Amino acid sequence: MRRIVFPLLVAVGVAGIIVGGTRGGGEQEATAAGDEVVVYSSRQEHLIRPLFERFTEETGIRVRYVTDNAGPLMARLQSEGRNTQADVFMTVDAGNLWQATERDLLAPVDSEALEQAIPAHLRDPEGRWFGLSVRARTMVYSTERVDPEELGSYADLADDQWQGRLCMRSSQSVYNQSLVAMLIATHGQERAEEIVEGWVANLAASPFSNDTSTMEAVAAGQCDVALVNTYYFGRLQSQDPDVPLAIHWADQDGAGVHVNISGAGVTRHARRPEAAQLLLEWLAGAEAQALYGALNHEYPAREGIEREPLVASWGDFRMDDTNLAEAGRLQTQAVMLMDRAGYR
Ligand code: FE
Repeated sequence: MRRIVFPLLVAVGVAGIIVGGTRGGGEQEATAAGDEVVVYSSRQEHLIRPLFERFTEETGIRVRYVTDNAGPLMARLQSEGRNTQADVFMTVDAGNLWQATERDLLAPVDSEALEQAIPAHLRDPEGRWFGLSVRARTMVYSTERVDPEELGSYADLADDQWQGRLCMRSSQSVYNQSLVAMLIATHGQERAEEIVEGWVANLAASPFSNDTSTMEAVAAGQCDVALVNTYYFGRLQSQDPDVPLAIHWADQDGAGVHVNISGAGVTRHARRPEAAQLLLEWLAGAEAQALYGALNHEYPAREGIEREPLVASWGDFRMDDTNLAEAGRLQTQAVMLMDRAGYR
């Protein structure tokens, strides 16, 4: 037995929180009890535990973690303040990571290893968060009713030819808030608003609550094209390889595909900032990067890492390399814009 589950010894009263940990085996018994790091993660347990276990094997540093949604974890970090146990905050979407910086929950990290591993547009210019995997938000279309030649940019989905053919997830989703924020960054507010108004006019159905149901509506014939994160398509495709859907890489003649990240930062009041930084550096390393994205059909953040076969089968694309901090900076503007455009 290399590892045993090491539960966090705190009272956890909130439903849905998962608490777990990793621990080194016999040869690491000499490790001081203080050699551990605590992570608050909105990344699901099955996606992080294999990595934490490898980290513990290699470094002897135990990882304790709490998982919940990003909002509750940020509220918890805020209310715990200096008393928090958390050294690392891990979540999805630059919009959420930016929120964490706005609430001063993350401390800057000065790490050459992280700066070399992670492309500049996928990390906070001030070093408070770093992308660890990349997700692409682009078009998934019906292979039965759409000629891929018809598809182009995000803006093109506002054209009349898509009337009654578009399905979208709700504007409540931070994924769409970030997408629209990046549209504002690319096109300016006025043009971005025209695009979103056009999308709303082309909707075949009320916005859906998640990416999977949005895509399933395309497969079921309710609409012809949807904007989703490709890893959800990966899940659908691995369950049903014959699903009559395919990916189109948006904006290849323009700004490129809108990408986002899952990422992490060291907390403002970390008790073990060195171990926290070491964990981030390790997660950005070649071994972890090959595993991190693949666990969820995502892309590695680090360049030069082989992609998982299913993901590789979707081909190459050019991504928008605008710094993702813009997704946060323009988030409020994006939410207001979507509201004015009638996007619910
Ligand atoms: Fe997701």
